[in-house]
Amino acid sequence: MSALYGTYARSELAFERGEGVRLFTGDGTGYLDFNSGIAVNALGHGDAHVVAALKAQADKVWHVSNIFRIPEQEKLAERLVASTFADAVFFTNSGAEAVECAIKTARRYFYDNGEKDRYEIIAFTGSFHGRTMATIAAGGNPGYTEGFGPVVPGFKHTAPGDLAAVEALIDDKTCAILIEPVQGEGGVTAMPDAYLKGLRALCDKHGMLLIFDEIQCGYGRTGKFFAHEWAGVTPDIMTVAKAIGGGFPLGACLATEEVAKCMVPGTHGSTYGGNPLACAVGNAVLDRIQSPGFIEHVEEMGKVLAWHLQQLAQKYPQYVTEVRGKGLIAGVRITPPVRDFVARLRNHKLLAVAAGENVLRLLPPLIVEKEHIEEAMEKIANAFEELDAETANAAQ
Ligand SMILES: *Cc1c(COP(=O)(O)O)cnc(C)c1O
Repeated sequence: MSALYGTYARSELAFERGEGVRLFTGDGTGYLDFNSGIAVNALGHGDAHVVAALKAQADKVWHVSNIFRIPEQEKLAERLVASTFADAVFFTNSGAEAVECAIKTARRYFYDNGEKDRYEIIAFTGSFHGRTMATIAAGGNPGYTEGFGPVVPGFKHTAPGDLAAVEALIDDKTCAILIEPVQGEGGVTAMPDAYLKGLRALCDKHGMLLIFDEIQCGYGRTGKFFAHEWAGVTPDIMTVAKAIGGGFPLGACLATEEVAKCMVPGTHGSTYGGNPLACAVGNAVLDRIQSPGFIEHVEEMGKVLAWHLQQLAQKYPQYVTEVRGKGLIAGVRITPPVRDFVARLRNHKLLAVAAGENVLRLLPPLIVEKEHIEEAMEKIANAFEELDAETANAAQ
């Protein structure tokens, strides 16, 4: 067998270098990257400011452990607190660890308030929260929990969109609601603003915590710093990862003071989480995301992308059944099997990614320009034309 676990259905492609919105194989073939390492490379590849920050920090100190103060970490936390609902941050190396921290924080909050039996979290079908034992339980996707039982208890699920169905699940054990404002992996479903407002109201009514998982939809991708800003509501706890490190492993769990203060010394920890190297990169990424006009550019490009996808849907109704998403997290529900179609797009030198419900997921770097979007649309149209030609040939 291969020296690697066979956990990934990998393509044969390997890239040697990247530049902006493009990746290049060893023989110099360029690919337009609308995958962005699955919403990680928000600044594309080789952003000069981030590369310089990484190199500069590499010459100073990489890692010291959280036994010591880490100025780069404090700085990044202060900046995140200043730009969000949150008062405190816990840094992790990945998204799943950020969700683990969110779950622990919610449970510990009620434990500290004398409600030990209040530990259940309502989550949603079609969601994705990571691959650890607790986060596969939170995601509730049977394909990810099968064979890994016993499944971590304390999670209940319902389909998103129906507030009454959520309220029907609430009992004296319920402590929180956990939701992605835009479901990524599950099929690129943006939650309506009114629904997120309704969840906030339910949490307030029942004294529960609202947890937003913004690991994929946050950090500028929807055209706001965080996707929940569109709805005008704030959570009590929020998870962030993917784009926060621009490709360097980094994640974060953010919370209000009221909630975060239950996480005292000894309750949680991480060896690497928020080390100097990761946080130096994180600060440089944030410099770029918060630079004037950056997020406005994302919003504008999101509109361009949505317009083009509608055109594509009109031109190829036999292949496109629905266009979804928000800003630069876009989903195109298609009729051909999506994994095969993603492979076909690779032949056209376009990288995209599949999502649930046979959705083609487009996650361009946030630095994408109009001409890159047009180029991607042309490649998708060419792939549809090719399918048409193959169908015609088969019919002869
Ligand atoms: C990717 C993702 C995760 C898991 O992140 P990892 O870094 O792979 O652990 C969790 N939640 C959402 C919404 C994600 O998109």
